[in-house]
Amino acid sequence: MKKYHDLHSHSYYSGCGRDDPRVMIEAAIAGGITHFGISDHNYGVGDRKAEYIAELSTLREEYKDRISLLIGIEISTLPGKTPPEGERYSELDYCLIEETDCDNTVVTDIVEYGSRFDCPAGIAHTDLFGYCEKKGLDPLTFFKRMAEAGMFWEMNVSYDSIHHYREHEYVKEFMRNEEQQRIIRESGVRVTVGFDGHRVEDYLPERVKAMNDFLREM
Ligand SMILES: [Zn+2]
Ligand SMILES: [Zn+2]
Repeated sequence: MKKYHDLHSHSYYSGCGRDDPRVMIEAAIAGGITHFGISDHNYGVGDRKAEYIAELSTLREEYKDRISLLIGIEISTLPGKTPPEGERYSELDYCLIEETDCDNTVVTDIVEYGSRFDCPAGIAHTDLFGYCEKKGLDPLTFFKRMAEAGMFWEMNVSYDSIHHYREHEYVKEFMRNEEQQRIIRESGVRVTVGFDGHRVEDYLPERVKAMNDFLREM
């Protein structure tokens, strides 16, 4: 059986989400996803981190013969929304870091910031080639640094009501730009797929699987 992962989704632990994690897991299984990550916002989980991990750990055990559930969190890097300094994430499987390309982000060096976390860290829904260009960074060197730090880059394939059915331009560009693909291959950085679901009825596992297949092929 082919493996298909989706490492980005939101449950009722995110203010912008609504779904019971169980319903989301069932939708992922029905859609043929084999590795499914729930990644609620850090400021949505707030002081309920222990409860969040406990609830998802119970579900991971319950569903282990049908799907691999990964427990993630999405970290905001905007002032006032970032987690407290020194917050620990070692019980989580990974974190997604967002808003690193915003003008008011607290992040000055993406790789240095990602290296602070005690779980694997990835960069969510960000045009990192555009970021390199804006910052005057050589993309190959930048992605090699990410790879050395064990970081990953997300191809965000969301297409839902919450995001007004917009598609990420950086993902479309990456799919047609062979030079970008060559740089990513050469750098050794890992690339992941996330639908960024907020409403289970909007979920499109075929989009997730198509991107998994594209990356596997690449
Ligand atoms: Zn996000
Ligand atoms: Zn998200």
